[in-house]
Amino acid sequence: MDFTIPPRVEEFRARIARFVADEILPVEADRAAWDAHGNIALDWLEALREKARAEGLWCLQLKPETGGQGLGKVGMAVCYEAMNRSIFGPVVFNSAAPDDGNMMVLEQAATEAQKARWLAPIVAGAVRSSFAMTEPHPGGGSDPGMMLTTATRTGDRYVIRGRKWFITGAEEASHFILIARTSDDRRRGLTAFLHDRSDPGWRIDRRIPIMGPEEHGGHCELVYEDMELPADRILLGEGLGLKLTQMRLGPARLTHCMRWLGLAKRCTEIAREYAQNRHGFGMRLSDRESIQIKLGDLAMGIETGRLLVMKAAWALDRGSFARKEISMAKIHVANLLHKAADVAIQINGARGYSTDTVLEWIYRYARQARLVDGADEVHQMVLNRHLAAEGDGFWQWEVAER
Ligand SMILES: Cc1cc2nc3c(=O)[nH]c(=O)nc-3n(C[C@H](O)[C@H](O)[C@H](O)COP(=O)(O)OP(=O)(O)OC[C@H]3O[C@@H](n4cnc5c(N)ncnc54)[C@H](O)[C@@H]3O)c2cc1C
Repeated sequence: MDFTIPPRVEEFRARIARFVADEILPVEADRAAWDAHGNIALDWLEALREKARAEGLWCLQLKPETGGQGLGKVGMAVCYEAMNRSIFGPVVFNSAAPDDGNMMVLEQAATEAQKARWLAPIVAGAVRSSFAMTEPHPGGGSDPGMMLTTATRTGDRYVIRGRKWFITGAEEASHFILIARTSDDRRRGLTAFLHDRSDPGWRIDRRIPIMGPEEHGGHCELVYEDMELPADRILLGEGLGLKLTQMRLGPARLTHCMRWLGLAKRCTEIAREYAQNRHGFGMRLSDRESIQIKLGDLAMGIETGRLLVMKAAWALDRGSFARKEISMAKIHVANLLHKAADVAIQINGARGYSTDTVLEWIYRYARQARLVDGADEVHQMVLNRHLAAEGDGFWQWEVAER
C-alpha cells in the first residue's frame, strides 16, 4: 500500500502554504479587509486572486484544457487542506463552494457550447455561480424526491415555477444550475437547467440571516414565477437531474472535507500556540496532561479524517462514485471540525470566545458542516444501506491486479 504523494503535488502544496502564510494570513488579520458578512471584501479578494492566478495557483481542480492544473482528487486533498489554513484561502484560489463544485460538474457534464457559455467565465473568475436545489417545507431537502419546483414543457421551451432556499451565493451569482421536476418518474423525474441572472421570471425573496459567516452572495430564498428557458439550457439531459446532482454533490462533499481539515488544523495551531505561552498554577498550560490529551485527541481525529478523505479521493480518481467512502469522510470531518473549534476555544479561555482569533468564526461556521450536503443522519442512512446490501463485504479490501 502506497501512502506517498507525487512530487508535483508536494510542490503545489508547498507553494500554496507559502502563499497562504505570506499573502493571505496578513489580509485575514486586517479587519479592514473583511466585508459585513465575515468574508474577505471583494476588492481585497480580487487583488489576491490576481496574484494567485499569476503564480499558477488557480483552479487546481480542473483539467489543463479547461484552464486548471489537473491535480486530481488526491492532489486536491493535499492542497485544499493547505489553502484553508486561512478562512479566506479557498476563495482566493477559486476553490471555494459553490463555484468549486459547479465548475467540476460543468466540466464533466456540459456540452462544449455550454462550457464556453457557462463554465469559462467562472474559471476566469469573471462571474460567480449558484446551485439551486433545496426547497422550503413541504418541498425537497434531504429527500430530493420531494421536489416541488416544476419545469413544464411548452413547445421548445420549459416554464419554471417554484421556490428554492439556502441557495449559497445567489445575491452575487450570474450563473445558476437549477434542479426542477419535469415528470413524476421516481428515478428520472428531475432535470438540471442552466439560467442566467438576467433571465426574466425569477427573483430573490430574501437573503436568509444565518448564525455563521457567509459566502459572497449569502444564502438566499429564490422564487421562480414562470421563468421560460429554451431546451438548450438543459444540463446532461431531460430526466437526468438526479444523476447530475449525484455527480455534483459527491465530489463537492469531499472537497468540503478537504477544506475543513485545513480549518481543523488551524484550530489546533491556535490552541497549541496559546497553550505553549500561557502559564497558570505554577506551570505552562501545554505541560498539563489534560491539555496534552485534548491536543493528542484532535491530532488523531484530523489524521483519521485525512485517511478517510484520501481513500475517497483515491477511489474517485479511479472512476468510482465512492459513495460510502464520501459519506464516512463527510460525517467524521464535519464533526471533527466542530470539535476542533470547540476544544481550541476552551484551551484559549476567554480569548477563544473573542473575535481576536478566528476560532469563534470557525465555530459558528462549523455548525453548518453537519447539515449541508447531507445531514449526518442521511449519510448514516446511506452507510447502513451499504451495510445491509454488502454485509461483511462493506469492509472488503480491493485486491490489486498481479
Ligand atoms: C449554510 C447553508 C448553505 C446551503 N447551501 C445550499 C445551496 O447552495 N444549494 C442548495 O440547494 N442547498 C443548500 N443548502 C441546503 C442544505 O443542502 C440542506 O439544508 C440539507 O440538504 C438538509 O435539508 P433540509 O434543510 O431541508 O433538512 P430536512 O430534510 O428538513 O431534515 C431536517 C433534519 O432531519 C434529520 N433527517 C433528515 N433525513 C433523515 C433521515 N433519513 N434519517 C434521520 N434523520 C434525518 C436531520 O437531522 C436533518 O438535519 C444549504 C444549507 C445551509 C445551512
